Amino acid sequence: MSSAPPGFATRAIHAGYDPMAEQGALTPPLHLTSTFAFETAEAGGELFAGVREGHIYSRISNPTTALLEQRIAALEEAPAGLAAASGMGAITAVLWTFLSPGDEVITDTTLYGCTFAFLRHGLSRFGVTITHVDLTDPAALAAAISPRTRLVYFETPANPNMRLVDIAACSAIARAAGARTVVDNTYATPMLTRPFGLGADIVVHSATKYLGGHGDLIGGLVAGSAEDMAQVRSVGIKDMTGAVMAPFNAFLILRGLKTLQLRMERHCRSAMAAATLLEAHPAVAVVNYPGLASFPQHDLATRQMPGFGGMIAFEMQGGHAAGVAMMNRLTLIRRAVSLGDAESLIQHPASMTHSTYSPEERQAHGISEGLVRLSVGLEDEADILADLAASLSGAAAAG
Ligand SMILES: *Cc1c(COP(=O)(O)O)cnc(C)c1O
Repeated sequence: MSSAPPGFATRAIHAGYDPMAEQGALTPPLHLTSTFAFETAEAGGELFAGVREGHIYSRISNPTTALLEQRIAALEEAPAGLAAASGMGAITAVLWTFLSPGDEVITDTTLYGCTFAFLRHGLSRFGVTITHVDLTDPAALAAAISPRTRLVYFETPANPNMRLVDIAACSAIARAAGARTVVDNTYATPMLTRPFGLGADIVVHSATKYLGGHGDLIGGLVAGSAEDMAQVRSVGIKDMTGAVMAPFNAFLILRGLKTLQLRMERHCRSAMAAATLLEAHPAVAVVNYPGLASFPQHDLATRQMPGFGGMIAFEMQGGHAAGVAMMNRLTLIRRAVSLGDAESLIQHPASMTHSTYSPEERQAHGISEGLVRLSVGLEDEADILADLAASLSGAAAAG
């Protein structure tokens, strides 16, 4: 064995697991148990007091879930990980843990619809101020941040319009002002971006998407310092939300992670081909894909992401109606929300994932009514491109 640290794919397959500790079982066992027996009453007391290591109850920790937590930490190159019932469970647990009435959260203008709704319609009812700042411009963050700012929160690339945020620049500004930076890394995955190493404090994921990768579960993951993860586990997950991941879902995500690198390579390659096809088509007005030279933040994409991911947002020349008609002509690509699955998926954010914004809010937050969001799957690239081309030439024929 060499002493070089194992690479990404190796960590995705092996990190944290020794088959010899589990009777040689190559696949980590699935611990379907709600509670754990204590050897003695005193030992139980010591577990609760934190002076003895072990599991107590699966809302706090579970061996299968703990392995997944170690694995996301290894992939994000952060000291510790934490699992949650869903991406929203992870996000809400982190925010409930660190925010109190009177605090301010600075967030980008574009956010996933339910995150936007939780901040705007949930947390704001508890005395937390939500300030939207254009975080594509770090100077705007520097101008807006104040001692009241407790958290800076953003997605990069952002769902649905693919805006990027410079993680290193924004985290440095937040840190200097005494605020934590939380990055939703769902779109990029740790294969393409590792926010912790760039200065962010906490990384959150919808594991429902690329990490699980097979469209068969809902899950969330968090990574960060051991202290922060312990606090989110005890406050945000155990006491405030109860949004704990089921051990079976942890088992499935561990299985999905084994092919994360292979899958992301293929998603990136096919998405680049699909974005190129869309950009060249006369029926398409705008294509947002970080890999295109025409993408306004292509330089930042090249610096921050070694690959450009599997997500594309685009707009038809004919706006909303043309987008809907185009979606209805597809025969391979499925009309469905979610993303990061083997199946290519397409949806219309304004009427679906981002209908939590009012029309005025969508306009103010840069989510246009005609935007179509495409998750490029793992089917043969030629079949994906043929389906897109046929649905677009229908658009040209329909005028
Ligand atoms: C899907 C998604 C979420 C929410 O995750 P769930 O697992 O559906 O709760 C959060 N952030 C982003 C960027 C997402 O795409």
